[in-house]
Amino acid sequence: MEKKDIKSLTLEELKAEMAALGEKPFRAAQLYEWMHRKLSRGFGEMSNIPMAMKEKCGKNYSYTALRTVRVQESGLDGTRKYLFALADGNVVESVWMRYKHGNSVCISSQVGCRMGCRFCASTLDGLLRNLSPSEMLDQVYAITLETGERVSNVVVMGSGEPLDNYENLLRFIMLLTDENGLNISQRNVTVSTCGIVPNMRRLAEEKLQITLALSLHATTDEKRRELMPIANTYSMEELLSCCAYYFEQTGRRITFEYSLVRGVNDTREDAKMLADRLHGLNCHVNLIPVNPVKERSYVQSGKKAVEDFAALLTKRGVKATIRRELGRDIDGACGQLRRRFIEETTEGQ
Ligand code: SAH
Repeated sequence: MEKKDIKSLTLEELKAEMAALGEKPFRAAQLYEWMHRKLSRGFGEMSNIPMAMKEKCGKNYSYTALRTVRVQESGLDGTRKYLFALADGNVVESVWMRYKHGNSVCISSQVGCRMGCRFCASTLDGLLRNLSPSEMLDQVYAITLETGERVSNVVVMGSGEPLDNYENLLRFIMLLTDENGLNISQRNVTVSTCGIVPNMRRLAEEKLQITLALSLHATTDEKRRELMPIANTYSMEELLSCCAYYFEQTGRRITFEYSLVRGVNDTREDAKMLADRLHGLNCHVNLIPVNPVKERSYVQSGKKAVEDFAALLTKRGVKATIRRELGRDIDGACGQLRRRFIEETTEGQ
């Protein structure tokens, strides 16, 4: 029988587990504290837990502790990119960024991705598997330990489509924001989606205080379909009305991600159309010049085009920011580090 993943259990569930194993209720709180506060890497370090109980735990549960395979630090801005190995040998990547308002970690939610966005490196080999809640959490924990600094913001914007791994994502958010764990405020958690409408609705109804970021990248259905296959399933109209619903349910302003690709979605016409589309919606647009991926032919918009695009949106009443590109020199774009690592390690096989 497969062992239960102890770091994915809530405190309440852990209490029930301990009762079933004949342990005292306070043991659950101790274990939880070791895992989610002291960020322990295994049962071995839990000094106030009796040896017999540690052995029992080892027999009954698996303990997620990601192994750091590689760390790259940007010489430009101090951004750090981590490659972690999971227990089954798969690797995922995460990014640590330092901002004025605190440290931010960008985590992966799946190994690979099946959404097929044309400009994205994470999706090139499809989806291998979902990450468990503990595997998402431990990206944050391992980085906290490695940097020795508190993480204040978490963005689920690495490899994978979080709303394609809905149950695990939700449990991850609950554990991450739990007052008995790292206690990160829900307001400091952002989930980015390519736009799986039914799950966006479900998420709206959870009424969390997290930020939802929607990867839009185009202003018409036709253009969006060229860049993102998901646009064949949900129209822009459905998507935007779902965003309005999200705001209605949660009171949280939507962030739109818009990657600028030269000659594809970066004209003045596009900016005007985008402003029209978003008119009246409580939102914010993040503009980011597309990160060139070597397997794809997309080219970044020039600095002037990006600035003009932002200025046009602002003029038309849509709040827009040009996102700083952090970690450019270290394969900062989704999926690039993992890909390079796999290419290197399988070379000549
Ligand atoms: N699947 C989710 C989250 C992961 S991607 C989503 O689609 O939102 C995180 C963000 O990076 C998305 O906005 C995605 O469209 C964008 N992205 C992916 N590859 C990129 C690239 N090469 N250049 C710029 N942005 C990219």
